[in-house]
Amino acid sequence: MMSGHYICPRCGNTGYPQKETRRGRTYLYCYHYRIENGKRKAWRCYLGAEKYVNVERFQQLELSGLSDKNRYKKYILNILDKLEPEDLKWLQEEIKNRLIVEER
Ligand SMILES: [Zn+2]
Repeated sequence: MMSGHYICPRCGNTGYPQKETRRGRTYLYCYHYRIENGKRKAWRCYLGAEKYVNVERFQQLELSGLSDKNRYKKYILNILDKLEPEDLKWLQEEIKNRLIVEER
């Protein structure tokens, strides 16, 4: 049996954790391999979604935007595209709280 060093929280076997990105979202899987009756058996366990900002877009902005004073605004707009409605509500509260602090 081939084994990784990672213990899968789902099935308890050792395996290889992998991140997979689809449409700007990252999902975590644990890949498992085992030799059974001379055949290689492979399976993966789904470990959940990871909140994720599209790194490539982010880096492009970083590279092109070093002299761009608006780059933080661009970052935020990029991130906003990825957020779920409940995250947007949370962010709204965060911003509100910060504005209150600054008014004092
Ligand atoms: Zn597993």
